[in-house]
Amino acid sequence: MSLNETDLQGALKKYFGFSQFRGLQEKVIESILGKQNTFVIMPTGGGKSLCYQLPALMCEGTAIVVSPLIALMKNQVDAIRSISSEEGIAHVLNSSLNKSEVKRVKGDIVSGVTKLLYVAPESLTKEEYVDFLKEQKISFLAVDEAHCISEWGHDFRPEYRNLRNIIKRIGEDIPIIGLTATATPKVQEDILKNLAMSGANTFKASFNRPNLFYEIRPKTKNVDADIIRFVKQNSGKSGIVYCLSRKRVEELAQTLEVNGVKAVPYHAGLDAKTRAKHQDMFLMEDADVVVATIAFGMGIDKPDVRFVIHHDIPKSIESYYQETGRAGRDGGEGHCLAYYAYKDIEKLEKFMSGKPVAEQEIGHALLQEVVAFAETSISRRKFILHYFGEEFDDVTGDGADMDDNVRNPKKKHEAQEEVQLLLKVVNRTGEIYKSKDLVNTLIGKSNALIISHKTHEQPFFGTGKSREDKYWMALIRQVLVSGYLKKDIETYGVIRITPEGREFIESPVSFMMTEDHVYNQAKDDSIITAAKSGGKAGGTDDRLVGMLKDLRKSVAKKLGVPP
Ligand code: ADP
Ligand code: MG
Repeated sequence: MSLNETDLQGALKKYFGFSQFRGLQEKVIESILGKQNTFVIMPTGGGKSLCYQLPALMCEGTAIVVSPLIALMKNQVDAIRSISSEEGIAHVLNSSLNKSEVKRVKGDIVSGVTKLLYVAPESLTKEEYVDFLKEQKISFLAVDEAHCISEWGHDFRPEYRNLRNIIKRIGEDIPIIGLTATATPKVQEDILKNLAMSGANTFKASFNRPNLFYEIRPKTKNVDADIIRFVKQNSGKSGIVYCLSRKRVEELAQTLEVNGVKAVPYHAGLDAKTRAKHQDMFLMEDADVVVATIAFGMGIDKPDVRFVIHHDIPKSIESYYQETGRAGRDGGEGHCLAYYAYKDIEKLEKFMSGKPVAEQEIGHALLQEVVAFAETSISRRKFILHYFGEEFDDVTGDGADMDDNVRNPKKKHEAQEEVQLLLKVVNRTGEIYKSKDLVNTLIGKSNALIISHKTHEQPFFGTGKSREDKYWMALIRQVLVSGYLKKDIETYGVIRITPEGREFIESPVSFMMTEDHVYNQAKDDSIITAAKSGGKAGGTDDRLVGMLKDLRKSVAKKLGVPP
């Protein structure tokens, strides 16, 4: 099929009423119309659905769309039906249909009316459906939310793993379109491998959200009061507050309500009617704030969410990015505020303890990235984008000044020699250690692994003793972001040296580093010791600092150490 630009534009206008394609949409659609395997990586809200909907409407035959959530499929089917006079143009095939409904769907596919058939992956495993579909004219198969195929994604669904086999049975050479908003290189690799679409045309949009402001605050006992203050400072604006547990959701929604904030709770423990009601209240702006577990958000498309608060730090950078990504979809202000305490990380680790070992290791590796992100003092945007395999210039890049660290920079110092030492140690120990073991090697602390490799007998063992372990950890994280080292995710975080790193050993250049934020661990709470924190970004909340000083004194007294 050959289509020129105006044909595509015309089709866009005709079916969707839009006058322009967004970003990479047009290129993606051309690739699909050319019957090529196509891989689309675009942030949430980027307009992925249209990438398969438009070609499906234009092609002969039926496009199968695999999607993980029934609610999401229903929304899309309704939307497509609303632009057509033919109700059968889009259908959902799932286990809730009765016999006559299934018959109707099949009839519409056979007669060629149905252009889009949405199926959940588990429905697609049904023999009856597979046998039927393999006899039909299928234009292509789209796998939406394709990251569900990977354990390294934020939403692994084992049923997605069977897709390749089923596709094979429906038709060897049906083009496959994978779509996801998860940008980590490891997840992408998993998708390409599991869907066997290695030669796919890949389209990746930037994940930078320049209008979002990122801020991390230490999580103290006063977190609720701090949230109330923040919400009140932003009164009349829409926002989401995420909590880990249903109980916390209920409590916090009530606390907000008592304090004069129009807030509603949302979590999977509420009945469907209440959930729908609260969601509508938020959409219709009868409620300003929804306090929710992560059950809230998938498929919610409120463009003017002005803030997303994480009462509890999420379990991965992907989750953080997805959840914060619900702010500022219209391009306007979007403040992303997360509260961090290391003990919350320990709590998340504990949740995983019953799981299979491999899953625990993945979970642990993902959590370590969250720790690094929370504690870092470098550009948060640069950190996130590096995590997604994207380079970002934290001076000239779009949105470069939109985070707490950049607005409130820590003092930098020259660390060239230390970087050189670190790189040499990585090199001479044979690129087998994770960051913790490298730090131990540098400060001269041995453990079983270090002894088994005889690293403790090496002349460089302990040569970084003049610095604390935290200092080295911060340096490793920054050297990773700079690209002199890289983390091997397959082995859950073994650190390797890059060609640029080898070059650095020979001819070192300036490396300006800042130390990480320090979050102290008191008995029952975590307190930040860095003075610059709290209040609105850019300013210092003197009261909070004073309070923290007092707290630190009393903790020191209890422990019998100088404050
Ligand atoms: P994603 O799946 O990438 O998260 P969606 O497909 O849900 O994003 O699209 C997000 C929103 O963008 C939808 O409301 C959709 O109608 C809108 N949209 C998509 N493409 C265009 C376009 N070319 N012009 C205007 N709006 C668009
Ligand atoms: Mg989507």
